[in-house]
Amino acid sequence: MADDCIFCKIVAGELPSHNIQEDEHTIAFMDINPWTRGHALVIPRNHSKNLYEVPEEDLAHTASASKRLALTMRDRLGCDGVNLLNCCEPAAWQTVFHMHMHVIPRYDDDPLKLPIPPQPADPAELEQIARELRGG
Ligand code: AMP
Ligand code: ZN
Repeated sequence: MADDCIFCKIVAGELPSHNIQEDEHTIAFMDINPWTRGHALVIPRNHSKNLYEVPEEDLAHTASASKRLALTMRDRLGCDGVNLLNCCEPAAWQTVFHMHMHVIPRYDDDPLKLPIPPQPADPAELEQIARELRGG
């Protein structure tokens, strides 16, 4: 448990939360600022800051629990789809520094929009970036 981490406090039962599902490795609870009806968070019980630092096993457990929750949202809330979202570092909108997955049920008539309209890239630029990522 990390000092001053609000999600560690939720795991420890020291802060209130609306829990949905728990297992040995993860806990899922309602997001207090939901983007849609049912927006929830899945977190590993163990503290890690974010995607860069989470151990692979905790990440795998978080992914599995997120899938379970997505199916529960489909079956019990009747959502039409689900977005999984992870934010790693402030540049990517991270505000709580305990690894978490947003599980966001989507409805055909909900107001969420893609933040960027799809725009085709220059193939030469794509190849240049792919080369950088491959490391050669
Ligand atoms: P992120 O911006 O990806 O770090 O997401 C953090 C999320 O945690 C936001 O969607 C917040 O609404 C949510 N949040 C912050 N504090 C709490 C809390 N005490 N209980 C539930 N959700 C919270
Ligand atoms: Zn924590």
